[in-house]
Amino acid sequence: MIGISWRREQGLADPLLKRLVEEAGLEDVPQWTRGDDVRARAHAKWMGMAVDRDGAVAAEARDVSDVAAITAEITEKALALGADLVGCCGLTPIMIDADFDLPHRNAVAIVVHEDYANALKGSRAIEAETYAVYVRVAQIATDLSAYIRDMGFPAWAHHNGVTQIQAIPTLYHCGMGELGRNGSLINPTYSANFRPSFVTTDLPLEFGSPLVYGVQDTCENCNLCRNNCPGDAIATDHILTEGVKRWRIDMEKCYPYSRLHEAYCHICVDVCPYVQKENRDPENRRMYKAFMKQRREDGYRSPNRL
Ligand code: SF4
Ligand code: SF4
Repeated sequence: MIGISWRREQGLADPLLKRLVEEAGLEDVPQWTRGDDVRARAHAKWMGMAVDRDGAVAAEARDVSDVAAITAEITEKALALGADLVGCCGLTPIMIDADFDLPHRNAVAIVVHEDYANALKGSRAIEAETYAVYVRVAQIATDLSAYIRDMGFPAWAHHNGVTQIQAIPTLYHCGMGELGRNGSLINPTYSANFRPSFVTTDLPLEFGSPLVYGVQDTCENCNLCRNNCPGDAIATDHILTEGVKRWRIDMEKCYPYSRLHEAYCHICVDVCPYVQKENRDPENRRMYKAFMKQRREDGYRSPNRL
């Protein structure tokens, strides 16, 4: 299946980021050149896993006529590997990078949550947690793809080290949540505090369906992410993509804070009330209130504390 979705280049290969770095008189992204660069270490790990995204497929395929049982087995395996949530869907062109011919029909989405407690510890803690989760979720996809190949079906892992999968539409169709104004998928348990990876395969799987539980209605009146964004980068009005409402992030306004500042910016994720709104977790509610108090003290549109 040939994909249709544009992918932004990574790092300074992204022309917009390169221009903004140059205009700011910098040589690189400050967060990436610090002595304590957690990103460099994480980057080396997920790039190291990229070579294992594919491999030999067992010569004899397992009997997979009971698709429900196979889906349950894959879900249990991913959970045993460390996933918090697992979902499946059939691939469509919008889920695949433009012009890439992906030779599989189905996708497994894997989610690992970020510990919200880091929001109160400052941006360095959030940054370290984010990259650690990216590494964990890459390892799960790598191991799950090997498991499926051992069942006799082709499978590729998709993660930060190598991917042709577009996260948002794939997560949406796997039933992981609704797209919020902050540009992230909002899950009822984890809000947008998670990182995904994917496995694509021809293994027959039962598919999930979009999980609509009122997020987009909330977003119409909430605006907390928009009002706390230091770059004023979050759109007021929505657009429609394949009939699904979404709000765009203006990256020209976002990058000066999310890339050119020392502080890692995760504000639009951390101010979202869904970290405690749907799951009603009392500890999350306590931490959310404390984080929002910090935001108020800092004057809302300030960058994260280091
Ligand atoms: S990452 Fe920061 S600057 Fe970018 S949209 Fe989110 S809150 Fe705004
Ligand atoms: S902070 Fe509010 S407006 Fe932004 S995504 Fe969350 S619920 Fe929607």
